[in-house]
Amino acid sequence: NCGFVAIVGRPNVGKSTLMNRILGQKLSITSRRPQTTRHQIMGVKTVAGIQTIYVDTPGMHQMQRDRNRAINQFMNQAAAQALRDVDCVVFIIDRDRWTDEDDIVLERLASVSAPVIAVVNKVDRMKDKSALLPWLSSLSQKREFAAILPVSARHGTQVEELEAEVTRHL
Ligand code: GDP
Ligand code: MG
Repeated sequence: NCGFVAIVGRPNVGKSTLMNRILGQKLSITSRRPQTTRHQIMGVKTVAGIQTIYVDTPGMHQMQRDRNRAINQFMNQAAAQALRDVDCVVFIIDRDRWTDEDDIVLERLASVSAPVIAVVNKVDRMKDKSALLPWLSSLSQKREFAAILPVSARHGTQVEELEAEVTRHL
């Protein structure tokens, strides 16, 4: 029994931090500088005989607009291909703000048939937890999500709940 999970989101939302938290190892590189992760990084976690393969998916925030250029077609296809065979997608945003790059990532997810879990990360930075409510309601308008979970990848808050939600879709 095994499953593939893609972790997507614009640079700096905490994809690598979340993956390291889940896998409990320094697997992917985290940095304040965007695009430290240039290649796909995978990690496997086995719990109760279920193997879950997590893939940190960079480059989703860039949509190559000029479709006549072969290189752009190639890059768009590569990004789409990465999401074709997954069982579940974890879409991460930063509780700080929604940006145009978040929109591009979401646009890419439009054709994904696997369930998408939305994660609002860095909630440790949120002094007023009631500020979460507008986030949850605006996210739920953007598309259908299997779940919307506030987490702190850095502190591990609600990360086990996220893993449980992921496991539900494998
Ligand atoms: P990625 O580009 O999406 O892989 O993002 P990273 O995992 O490299 O994280 C970008 C920055 O955000 C780093 O400085 C992390 O330490 C920080 N960060 C990630 N998750 C959290 C979190 O839950 N809380 C806080 N306060 N910072 C975080
Ligand atoms: Mg990263």
